[in-house]
Amino acid sequence: MPFTALGEPCVLLKLGEVVLKGRNRDLFETRLRANVKHALKDHPIRLRQRHGVIVVFLPKGAGAEVAEAVAKRATEIPGIVLVQLAWRVPKDPDAITKAAVELVRDSGKAESGARFAVRSRRRDKRFPLRSNELDRLVGGVIKDTFGLPVDLTDPELTVYIEVDRDEAFLYTDGLQGTGGLPVGSSGRALALLSGGIDSPVAAYRMMRRGLRVDFLHFSGIPYTTSESIYKAYALVRTLDKFQGRSRLWVVPFGKAQQSIKASGQDRLAVIAQRRLMLKTAAEVARRIHAEALITGDSLGQVSSQTLANITAQDNAVELPILRPLIGMDKAEIIAEARRIGTLEISELPDEDCCTLLAPRSAETRAKIEDLRQIERRLDAEELAVQLADSIRPYMLEA
Ligand code: ATP
Ligand code: MG
Repeated sequence: MPFTALGEPCVLLKLGEVVLKGRNRDLFETRLRANVKHALKDHPIRLRQRHGVIVVFLPKGAGAEVAEAVAKRATEIPGIVLVQLAWRVPKDPDAITKAAVELVRDSGKAESGARFAVRSRRRDKRFPLRSNELDRLVGGVIKDTFGLPVDLTDPELTVYIEVDRDEAFLYTDGLQGTGGLPVGSSGRALALLSGGIDSPVAAYRMMRRGLRVDFLHFSGIPYTTSESIYKAYALVRTLDKFQGRSRLWVVPFGKAQQSIKASGQDRLAVIAQRRLMLKTAAEVARRIHAEALITGDSLGQVSSQTLANITAQDNAVELPILRPLIGMDKAEIIAEARRIGTLEISELPDEDCCTLLAPRSAETRAKIEDLRQIERRLDAEELAVQLADSIRPYMLEA
């Protein structure tokens, strides 16, 4: 939407579930504003909030490109459902009408004879016109200026007007936001991030529910190359747009995998390894004050994800394991991965550490007692602490 000289461009952010949060609402909103500030830190913007709307004031003289960049960036911030590029004009029927005419002109839809509607909302009841009176006034002028037909049921172009306490805002269409809750408002969790398609989507889903997510990746080094680490890092960089200040921890896991393999329990090796990953993750979580683990398991997708094997995994640690993809189909997960931008990274080839231990046939009904026996021989609890000691951090920005 190109801006003309009329009015001041700004961006409106509409809050979603945050407004339902009752007594915690202040905390949520404070968190959200801090997240917005951080996400938009490249722009010297100012924020103001009233009634479930954050107004982003752009730097003086900012043009359409800045407004568009800010709006686009804002669609990635969890907690915001809708983003609108708006004009801020004086709260007076004349100024509002003029701005509305310019908006229609700029929409590019006036030439094609689009059916249109005007919808106004009056937050300030002292404004001299009621909403339907303002609709009719502005709609009449648009009709006369461009000769467009009014259509209130199925318009092709809608001009929205919000009359606020100190000003009025006008906009046409909006951009869909990420929705969900502000990152950090639900606490912190540690996501087990492989190089695959599923785990980045799982992490994204939990960020959207208000968790700040740290990432833990198990690499097969020294028996594999470092490729999987680069992939994990690239994935975290992509996911970072939803939360900022992300942290990736990498566990050199190859030697521990060799010990599992040496235990000779071929069919149980994958589950034993997964339990060791979870025990290590729980120890790392304790150190970084994360209150839950996140995995990309989806029920029945592979042999390690049968109900019996998921039960065996839950049994390995005391922390809750969040599995947001548990009821999703692979096709749905892939579509979401594409949408959030992680799919093309996940599809890059790598040497996944799990292939070090791929048995000919894997157990689908692992018995916990059998797993415990392997773990006693390995001294799994002690091994998990040693593995947690060996993690290497990769921090994204300060
Ligand atoms: P993904 O697509 O996320 O790799 P998957 O369908 O390949 O999942 P599994 O290999 O059984 O399924 O992994 C299940 C979950 O275990 C993953 O989603 C991830 O959370 C965790 N996981 C597996 N391998 C690793 C690894 N090398 N590092 C960290 N987490 C891992
Ligand atoms: Mg995998």
